[in-house]
Amino acid sequence: MLDNYNREINYLRLSVTDLCNLKCKYCMPYGVEKCSHDDILRLEQLAIIVKALTTLGIEKVRITGGEPLVRRGIVNLIKQISPLVKNVSLTTNGTLLAPVCKDLKEAGLNSINIGIDTLEPDVYKELTLGGNINDAIGGIKEAYNFGFKLKINAVLQKGINEDKLPSLLDFAKQNGANLRFVELMPFDQTKDYFEKHYVSALNIIKRYNLKFAWRENNCSYYHYGDEIIGLITPISDKFCSSCNRIRVTAKGLLLPCLNYKIEYDLKPYLNDFDKLVSYLANCIKAKPKQHNLDNGQWQKNMFGIGG
Ligand code: SAM
Ligand code: SF4
Repeated sequence: MLDNYNREINYLRLSVTDLCNLKCKYCMPYGVEKCSHDDILRLEQLAIIVKALTTLGIEKVRITGGEPLVRRGIVNLIKQISPLVKNVSLTTNGTLLAPVCKDLKEAGLNSINIGIDTLEPDVYKELTLGGNINDAIGGIKEAYNFGFKLKINAVLQKGINEDKLPSLLDFAKQNGANLRFVELMPFDQTKDYFEKHYVSALNIIKRYNLKFAWRENNCSYYHYGDEIIGLITPISDKFCSSCNRIRVTAKGLLLPCLNYKIEYDLKPYLNDFDKLVSYLANCIKAKPKQHNLDNGQWQKNMFGIGG
């Protein structure tokens, strides 16, 4: 359906948990936040929300988190959702992926985005507070073997990977994946890290003499020699006018924009499908024109929203 600014909203990012097995410095510097089990929606409730949204034109669902693969029953949720939409995808850190690739394939999952910012084991370990890069690489390789469409997302960070485009691109290519750099975003809990490590994608364009190729939703693709690299630039070149997405969190909140402090509580509507659908329609209509990052009105953290 169309929102108040005539944008076609057809893409849902569904966060299934706030928990994660890693603690990336730019995402979860204070570790996991305790919350009551009762605050998190059951998988059946998440499936009802997806079903209701499909009646309003949502045709693509991305499962995210926290780390979605830490949530028990996730394969079953994907199995329920996949017949309802054209495309179901997963965003994961990849470390728990290898053993579940077969089940995910059978459940109807179409594509996987894996976050990996560095190929250096020590840097990875420090950045993720103890993560083992071999687990993530193993997940990527297994997903490739199972024929998933793959993207590798690297959060662009000064002093970490601003000069690592060629090696990351090589790695992505070897594993049948497209590489995208994502600009680091500020959140209240990660302000210090942002101030120290933010680097604009414009620096990468200049450093590697990238040439614009095309734009697809939130990602601009560039030629780098014979290769293609994607840049996601919420800060240096915001893409709000073509945004097609909404977010639903594991706590049952709908966020019409990642970086705007409005959220709608879906929980009171979960027992009445028709009321849920009409409430969702109002939430979609009310999507803000653009994000509020420039005004310093940041969200508390990323892991509770799902990216
Ligand atoms: N755990 C999964 C993962 O890491 O891919 C899924 C959830 S994570 C919140 C989703 C995406 O958000 C990841 O690609 C992660 O790198 C990115 N992310 C987290 N914090 C960020 C920040 N401050 N700025 C930009 N991207 C961020
Ligand atoms: Fe976990 Fe993903 Fe956040 Fe890293 S970015 S702490 S892997 S949720």
